[in-house]
Amino acid sequence: MEPFVALTFIYGVIVGSFLNVCVYRIPRKISIVKIHSFCPACRTPLPWKFKIPLLSFLWLKGRCHFCGAAISLRYPLIETLTGVITALAYVKLGLGGAFVFYLTFAYSLIVLAFIDLEHQILPNRILGFLMIAGIVENAFFRVVPFGEAFWGTLGAGGGMLLVALLGRVVFGKEALGMGDVKLAAVAGFYLGGHMIIYALFFSFFIAFLALMLMQLLGRRQRKDYIPLGPFMSIALIVFVLWGTVIVQWYWRIVL
Ligand SMILES: [Zn+2]
Repeated sequence: MEPFVALTFIYGVIVGSFLNVCVYRIPRKISIVKIHSFCPACRTPLPWKFKIPLLSFLWLKGRCHFCGAAISLRYPLIETLTGVITALAYVKLGLGGAFVFYLTFAYSLIVLAFIDLEHQILPNRILGFLMIAGIVENAFFRVVPFGEAFWGTLGAGGGMLLVALLGRVVFGKEALGMGDVKLAAVAGFYLGGHMIIYALFFSFFIAFLALMLMQLLGRRQRKDYIPLGPFMSIALIVFVLWGTVIVQWYWRIVL
């Protein structure tokens, strides 16, 4: 088992460097496969030795070799995060259908979260990909029973739509975007009808905590828009890994 933890971590770091490409390019409508990587500041195409995940960043001390511009910390952060999540998924799920299925989900969530942070959008292309990949992979691997997936999609999508419409009536503005509603529906497919309810409440809970914390630190202006996508992504990934345990804790505390 142990060597596989390291191997899955390295595999995840490599995938993470591709996720970085997706985060940068998808909202800017640049092809994710056709064009070679370039420095966002000076546009110089990068030779392979500057494209090695994590290592290049460390070797270049976080600066572009050609123009000296600082390389965003987001690059090593996403690579490390993806590596850690991949290794944890291996420990929790082993190597098999569930591993592939839930990593498709988690990888897409990482991309969605960072795009939402920067651009306040959850691109339909990624949500659509996630829905189709989920249906195809589940048909092969049978990870989530059909009824759970079906009601998860309908229940979470419908429930969030209701919250979004209510929010619009009560606050007179869009509190919950349609992207969040669509993400909830797709996530319902992956987690199933039971788990998705807890996961969504958990995402509201951590979003609320973060809001309070920012308020306390005086970091938040009233007009600031806080995207929900990153909190949903965190909650959903946490639930993929520890959902069953969290639900058990929850009932132990409540009862
Ligand atoms: Zn440069």
